[in-house]
Amino acid sequence: DTLSIHETGVEARLAGAFATIDLRALQHNYRTLAALAPTARTAGVVKADAYGLGIAEAVPALAAAGCDTFFVAWPEEGRALRKVSPHARIYVLGGLFGREAAQAYAEASLIPVLNSRRETAIWEGFCSTDGVAHACAIHVDTGMNRLGLTFEQARTLAEENALTSALDPVLVMSHLAGADQPDHPLNQRQLETFTAARQLFGGVEASLANSAGIALGADFHFDLVRPGIALYGGLSGLDLQPVVCVEARIVQIRTVRAGEAVSYGAAAVVQRDSRVAICAAGYADGLPRALSGAGVPLRAVTGGGHGFAGGRRVPVLGRVTMDMTMFDITDVEDGALTVGDRIEVFGPNLPIEEAAMAAGTISYELLTGLSRRHH
Ligand SMILES: *Cc1c(COP(=O)(O)O)cnc(C)c1O
Repeated sequence: DTLSIHETGVEARLAGAFATIDLRALQHNYRTLAALAPTARTAGVVKADAYGLGIAEAVPALAAAGCDTFFVAWPEEGRALRKVSPHARIYVLGGLFGREAAQAYAEASLIPVLNSRRETAIWEGFCSTDGVAHACAIHVDTGMNRLGLTFEQARTLAEENALTSALDPVLVMSHLAGADQPDHPLNQRQLETFTAARQLFGGVEASLANSAGIALGADFHFDLVRPGIALYGGLSGLDLQPVVCVEARIVQIRTVRAGEAVSYGAAAVVQRDSRVAICAAGYADGLPRALSGAGVPLRAVTGGGHGFAGGRRVPVLGRVTMDMTMFDITDVEDGALTVGDRIEVFGPNLPIEEAAMAAGTISYELLTGLSRRHH
């Protein structure tokens, strides 16, 4: 059963940090997003090893939920995905670096997203030598200014291709720069430009929306939607479930007297006699150092992150170190936590977006930054 959670075995007993991935929640989120865009197909964006979760587990689960189209960032990710998924449609968002890359795309049946005139020329040259117009996607920039042809370049390309048929575009796409801000005027401008751009490539599937773009409404859905972060539970407000639960094992509990400091720099001084849980995960595991905190009450370091243990939030105390993080568990009932128990860093009890905000970052960075140290 690919959906069982493997918590047994020597690796679990020796591990300090745990990342539990709920594949049923992943599937729930896929179906929820697909239902929000009923007139479009729903692809899965699985770049960066499925946002750190692991394509070997995430992709079969998504496929079982009905997903047959995937996006990755770079060709090496596409090749790895092809091994997991022999028949899926795989788009590679970037990385048609040269003619050799084109050959590798064809060998693994990867569809390149062509982002510039240089890249359309590379693919045209490759197809003409090969004698086959291999499938490709055309990316038109509509206001993000990261990748993509300008509207004018897209128009020229479409006119040329109508004569030569040198390319076989199967998707025309663009990317929203600020879909997470629904009222930002750029969304509407990008929608208008994209609506015009897709007309240039008649009969070709069109795709604009990432996760937050799905929430902008049906106008943004076109033929194919491309959610990433929402699949992994990193976007609030759409009835999505948390997918990843990160926990750290308590390796020691110590008493710290009022007036003493905890961790590097003596930056957190406790104001009362405190119980402190030393946990086996630090910045080398992907817990941002920016979660460092002063505990309760605050002094010297302000802000900071929390964990969840013993039925309540427990503040990070002092600086996060490479391998360990300290939590102030003074307010947890005596005896409720012992060495070997785990403190949740984010998950069902502590939303990932909240943990990300405490660290001054976004859920994407927390997920993709999780290290391979986790069991
Ligand atoms: C990463 C990415 C997505 C997915 O974005 P989310 O915000 O994670 O849903 C979609 N399209 C492109 C071009 C991307 O780079």
